[in-house]
Amino acid sequence: MFEPAASPQDLPQENRAGAISGGDDALPPLLRPQKRWSRRRRLQILAAAAAAALIFAADVLSPLDGAVAVLYTAVVLLVARVADRRFVLAAGAGCCVLVLVAFVSSHWGEAFNGAYVRLGVSLTALAITTLLAVRSWSAETTAAEQARMLELTHDTVTIRDADDRILYWNDGAEALYGWTRKEAVGRICRELLETQYPAEEVAKGFAAAGSWSGELTRRRRDGTRIVLASRWLVRYHSDGRPAGIIETSADLTAERKAEAERRRSEERYGAIFRAAGFAIWEADWSGRFEAVEDLQKAGVGDIGAYLDAHRATLRQMASAAEITEANEEAVKLFEAPRREALIGRSMSIFSTTAAENTLAHLLAQLADGAAIVEAETQFCTLRGKTIDVLLRACIVAPGEGWRRMIITAIDLTERNLTQARLDQTLAELAHAARVALLGQFAASIAHEVNQPLAAITTYAQSGRRWLTREAPAAQEVRDCLDHIIENGKRAGEVVAGLKALTKKGAAPKIPLHLAEAIEEAVALMRRELTTGAINLRQSFAADLPRVLGDRVQIQQVVINLAMNGAQAMAAIDPRRRDLFVATQREGAGFARISVRDSGEGIKEQNPDAVFEPFFTTKSSGTGMGLSICRSIVEAHGGRIWAENNDGGGATFHFTLPLEEAAA
Ligand code: ADP
Repeated sequence: MFEPAASPQDLPQENRAGAISGGDDALPPLLRPQKRWSRRRRLQILAAAAAAALIFAADVLSPLDGAVAVLYTAVVLLVARVADRRFVLAAGAGCCVLVLVAFVSSHWGEAFNGAYVRLGVSLTALAITTLLAVRSWSAETTAAEQARMLELTHDTVTIRDADDRILYWNDGAEALYGWTRKEAVGRICRELLETQYPAEEVAKGFAAAGSWSGELTRRRRDGTRIVLASRWLVRYHSDGRPAGIIETSADLTAERKAEAERRRSEERYGAIFRAAGFAIWEADWSGRFEAVEDLQKAGVGDIGAYLDAHRATLRQMASAAEITEANEEAVKLFEAPRREALIGRSMSIFSTTAAENTLAHLLAQLADGAAIVEAETQFCTLRGKTIDVLLRACIVAPGEGWRRMIITAIDLTERNLTQARLDQTLAELAHAARVALLGQFAASIAHEVNQPLAAITTYAQSGRRWLTREAPAAQEVRDCLDHIIENGKRAGEVVAGLKALTKKGAAPKIPLHLAEAIEEAVALMRRELTTGAINLRQSFAADLPRVLGDRVQIQQVVINLAMNGAQAMAAIDPRRRDLFVATQREGAGFARISVRDSGEGIKEQNPDAVFEPFFTTKSSGTGMGLSICRSIVEAHGGRIWAENNDGGGATFHFTLPLEEAAA
């Protein structure tokens, strides 16, 4: 049919160009027919011209009387090898003219003789040669074009003779099997490629239709075996004998691999879709894409701002999206009866004002080139319930203009509700804490002012008694009044001190003698101590320097501890009610004050518990005394603690910084 090793590079250039374009001046330069001839072709044309000149000279000058004219056929054949149809025709015609010129110059006016016969033979030979050359050119061109087409295909194209010898081997075959055309042509195909094919089926196909198509396996040059989808066509000689086979094949291995990979990735995608513990759906947003594009073409720069201002457009865009796939979680999220109720629906059925605002924001981001966008928003389910969701949208194939969007939604409704409840609880707790603080403050005032108030009442009563005597004792009444004033002042100072404490400010640092302050405090309690039949003893370290602090507050601590001690001893034998107050140095820079009683002792396993606010074991107790003591001591930079005595009763200690240490 055509030369096995023919390739487009071997063809005349006109042919190649013609095969591409058909010669149109309007075409781009690359596609225009190439008019320039190669050097080789120019030389051949020159050689043909020289041969024509020589033959002409021989014809005119030799005594052969036109016998050499038949050699012009060689000139035509020479031209036909390198030039196109028109040029061959021109060469044939030119040669005829030369034959005629030579004839006229030598035989003009002669009577009919042998020269006329030779002229006729030469012209006929030239005409036939020219026609045949032109036809052969056309056939060659067609064959070459067909060959080129075979080479254009990615499939393998091979042509074999009846012995399975390879005659033609296209680029596709080179690429797939790994053997070049040069290496393959002439080899026996089944040996080169170790072809395994269903021989019986092939024979049946050939017998029935002269063709077969099916699968076969072959070995490539690198040793790997491949599966091919193949189509074989029998070629016949003109007498009907089979001449060989034309075959086209395509590699199924790669295709199958790609197909399997495609299937696997689809399965993976499907599994993720189904197994995701959150709502996930795919939607077609191409309508929204086109709408955004239209806006951009119309010169809208800020899509988000535009959509915020044009709600009707935004609503139209909201409805221009269709759910194409959804998982069961999405069905649950939107309270749909089943999956099919979502597929094909527009997203706008779930829209709320919040969702609309979010959409404007998301579209603006996508228009800016973002591939994944995220926002928290609200949807309305098919049953009308409002749900809070964290929405994430991702473009699957960016080149397809949002045609495939994967959207995931995490339901935040519960979380937001819990958060709201938590916020409320925290607010209530803060309120409760403020109320408790207020209660604590009120309780503290009640506790601390109780003692001076009781003293005021007692002194007032005894003053009254002095006045109602027959001979009123002015001095005693004055004493009582002094005590009343003193205790009244003290109550005022206590309240002021408590106020200062609640402000959490540091206690005033005034140097004071501990022994003096304690003496004063004890003096204020004398009446209670006497009434309680308590035996008070004191022991002050002689060399103790001054401490830094607030006199009234320190006295408050001492009074609290002493009163607690007195109360702890209320139930024991009055003869054994001993209260001992002592001071001593504590390490470097501190003084320690201890108040020891012989009462019932602290019943708590952890003695520190008694310092907690509101901790009390007394029916009329407030549980504030020790808590206030701790606040005061700590505000002074000291510490307070309690312990039970070995022989019964408890001892409370507290420390205060010495003035010298501060200096
Ligand atoms: P209140 O005296 O109102 O109960 P406090 O804070 O002064 O409040 O005391 C708290 C509790 O600590 C008392 O109820 C008591 O159980 C215990 N407590 C305080 N001082 C002593 C003490 N000297 N001996 C035994 N227990 C004490």
